[in-house]
Formats: sequence, C-alpha cells, structure tokens
Amino acid sequence: MTLSGVARVAFVGSRRIFASHLPSMQSYTPAFSRQMSVGMKSVTDRLRDSGLLRTQGLIGGKWIDAYDGKTLEVHNPATGEVIANVSCMGGKETKDAISSAFDAFNSWSKLTAAERSKGLRKWYDLLMAHKEELGQLITLEQGKPLKEAVGEVDYGAKFIEFYAEEAKRVYGEIIPATLPDRRLFVLKQPVGVAGAITPWNFPLAMITRKVGPALACGCTVVVKPSEFTPLTALAAAELALQAGIPPGVVNVVMGNAPDIGDALLTSPQVRKITFTGSTAVGKKLMAGAAGTVKKVSLELGGNAPCIVFDDADLNVAVNGA
Ligand code: ADP
Repeated sequence: MTLSGVARVAFVGSRRIFASHLPSMQSYTPAFSRQMSVGMKSVTDRLRDSGLLRTQGLIGGKWIDAYDGKTLEVHNPATGEVIANVSCMGGKETKDAISSAFDAFNSWSKLTAAERSKGLRKWYDLLMAHKEELGQLITLEQGKPLKEAVGEVDYGAKFIEFYAEEAKRVYGEIIPATLPDRRLFVLKQPVGVAGAITPWNFPLAMITRKVGPALACGCTVVVKPSEFTPLTALAAAELALQAGIPPGVVNVVMGNAPDIGDALLTSPQVRKITFTGSTAVGKKLMAGAAGTVKKVSLELGGNAPCIVFDDADLNVAVNGA
C-alpha cells in the first residue's frame, strides 16, 4: 500500500476537508533505526497490568468474544511466537457493532465539535502517556524497530489531537443565489457510521488517521484492523474508553475479513467506508459500497515511483529507495 502521501479523508458531507493540513509522515521517524529487542513476556505482562492487552472485540463499549468462541493467533513476526489469541469475529458481530455505532451516532453527532474535542484530547493525552508501551506492542505484533514503533505512536496520536482542534472550524458556505427569492448555503454534517478497514504496516496510525477525523466531525466508527496486528487497535480502543469517548462511538471487530467487509458494505446504516490497503481489496470494497451508495475514501497501491536522475548520487538514491 502507499503511505507516502497524505490521505484525503472526509467524514462530512459535501466537501473534502483537511487535506493539506495533516501531520507529515516525515516528522515522525528516521528511515533506519537500530532494532532493539523487546522481551515478549515482560511487555505483555506490563500491558496486561495497565489493561492494554485486550483480546476481545469492542462492541457498544463492551469487550466481547466471537459468538462462536473462535479465536485467532497473533504472532510476533520476528520469532513466530504466539503473542495472544484474539476473538475471530465475522458478519454477526459486525452487524451488532454497526447497530451500536448507529445508536451512538444519535447522541455523539449532536454534541458540539468543542464537546467532542474534549474527549478526543483526553484520548490523545492517554495515547501519549502510554507511548512506550504502545510502541513495544507495535514492535511485538508488527515487527518494526522499537524506535520507529514509538515514533508511530507519536505520529498516530497527533491525528487525534489535530482533528480534535480542526473540527471546530468546519465552516459552511453561502453561495450567491441564481434567483432573487432563493438563498443557497452549504451546511456540513457528519455522514453517519463509518467502517474503517486498516492494514498491518501502521497498526496505530492508520486507525487514528481514519478514526480521528470521523469522531471529530460527529461520525461513529466500526474499525476492522488487520488480523496480523489487532492488539494495537484494541489497546487504542481501550484508551478511547478510558478517555470517556461514549460506548458505541468506537467499535472494533476482527477476524474473517471478507465476512466483516460484506457486513459493512451491505449495511444501509454504514454511510462511509475508509480503507488503506491493496488495490485488489480496494476495488472490491468500492464495488460493494455501490449497492448502498456509500462514500468511500481509499488509499491503495504499493506503486510509489522513484525516479533517479543522471546526476544523482547513487548511494543516496539507493538508501532513499
Ligand atoms: P495489505 O496486505 O497490503 O495490508 P490488504 O488489502 O490485503 O493489504 O489488507 C488490508 C486490510 O484489508 C486488512 O485489514 C485485511 O484484513 C482487509 N481485507 C482483506 N480482504 C478484505 C475483504 N474482502 N473485505 C474487507 N476487508 C478485507
């Protein structure tokens, strides 16, 4: 997938917003950093103690097992060890998560942006307060060097902070009328429940980048993290609850990706799909979203061009590539 550019995301109707003000990828981490070892047992113990090692899905503010009791192993890619067994959910759990998000939308969308911003700010503070543990968790399940993982927490948390502020400034527009007895204006409103499907390579930042603007605008979400890296998503959701984000505003389901995807796509209550991942899956989601005419924001790819000019320093170019 392509992560070189900023994502264009819009969770309000009628216009794209925020596209040029996003925190920059460049600000968070050097391209190369020394791998530091993360002792699995001590990290999982610490996370368990602070309540951040969650293994169930989150539906309507409650931690829930898969209805058929199925679980899915999450591995440390560096060693192959099993870190945890998480609930392996599917269509039924997703439908319930959508219902919870739909119910929560009623009240969440009616708050002012300033009121929503308070909860989001607390969430940001908690993410930052647990930066080291979350970084260790990212390294454990995703495999990136610890320095980069901690950098991702910094970078990812900033989306929450940024949108909490920015959503206070979602202005409408007054348009010169074409008839003397008409008044034309644009009102921006939250679109409704958003389904957010995220990849494995940025287990926290891809979630905050989608959930931050959605919540700030008044939408509620059903998040489906990658099955390779659900633990970071669940820890982030736990911190959202601790921050006082109301039950049902953030829901997390993971497990059978096509079944969860189908439930999100076919539900008339889901009004938006936001996805980062492969082009092949993106195409399926776009086609599936057409049935209920959902808005879609897709960040697809894996085709980041790199042009090396004649006069380039080849060593620098190779490192950069
Ligand atoms: P990558 O392997 O580059 O991360 P994928 O597109 O395979 O990209 O995966 C990105 C996300 O899409 C993951 O959360 C994955 O589980 C999810 N996914 C894969 N197939 C489907 C599907 N049919 N419906 C919904 N989500 C899917």
